[in-house]
Amino acid sequence: MSIIEVKDLCFTYGIKTPFEKKAVDSLNLSINEGEIIGLIGHTGSGKSTFVQMLNGLIRPTSGQVFLNGEDIWAKPKEIRKIRFKVGMVFQYPEYQLFDETVYDDIAFGPKNMGLSGEKIDATVKKAAKFSGLSEKLLKKSPFDLSGGEKRRAAIAGVIAMDPDVLVLDEPTAGLDPKGKSLLLSQINSYHRERNNTVIIVSHSMEDIAQIADRVLVMNKGRLEMFDTPKKIFAQAEKLESMGLRVPQITKIMISLKEKGYDVSDGVLTVEQAFCEIVSLLKKEGKI
Ligand code: ADP
Repeated sequence: MSIIEVKDLCFTYGIKTPFEKKAVDSLNLSINEGEIIGLIGHTGSGKSTFVQMLNGLIRPTSGQVFLNGEDIWAKPKEIRKIRFKVGMVFQYPEYQLFDETVYDDIAFGPKNMGLSGEKIDATVKKAAKFSGLSEKLLKKSPFDLSGGEKRRAAIAGVIAMDPDVLVLDEPTAGLDPKGKSLLLSQINSYHRERNNTVIIVSHSMEDIAQIADRVLVMNKGRLEMFDTPKKIFAQAEKLESMGLRVPQITKIMISLKEKGYDVSDGVLTVEQAFCEIVSLLKKEGKI
């Protein structure tokens, strides 16, 4: 069942000024409940503008966003409620942290939603656990956290509102490889337990290949492709024409295939490549 539907969605910045810019152009798509969507596109392709329209942070110039079948702008006065349902973690989490302690920051959403004392406490601790934030950090000021911890705190603050749709803008940017894969696996296990819909905007094709059920490719404000990672990353040339690339490991396997080795060209992760190469070596009697 679809949770988000977007019809003829457009957004133009600076209408009737010399800086007028159509950032999102006639998007039509639907996202199913429980999917993990990877959103990719060159810088300036309209990704941020698009996701900000999903939770009513910006109002479409024309077109509609439906959440569970309802136009989110049907009652403009109630648009704030949409932000509890579609939670957004921005690329720069420091802008999202403002309270005295990490605990208060995470508690802000649940308090605003009208939860009571004990429930708030349980929600804060659960959200912190989901985002891999240790309890001892909860007493600290958010400004004393490291970059990775700040991002986890911002994620916890949004998860605490238990949104049906979680939007993460570049969640692993700036993290080291270990931090990246840990955060991705935490997002994955949160998703498995909560079974909500997750939209991840990322420049890392590796992250997207690892985690997404479907990949949405934007180019110059338009929806260019929307399919499984396997089908999207099989179109290396098309992606390259949009300033994108396929995951490194996919590229290596494609070149092995081009050189005549009997391997799949739909490999997306190092683990899959390892299995392919082991089975190739076995077939050739080398192991
Ligand atoms: P992405 O997230 O893919 O990098 P954006 O949605 O940020 O893309 O931007 C899409 C287009 O809209 C770009 O050309 C960008 O320069 C323009 N844009 C983004 N924000 C603003 C703004 N506040 N005012 C004017 N133009 C903007």
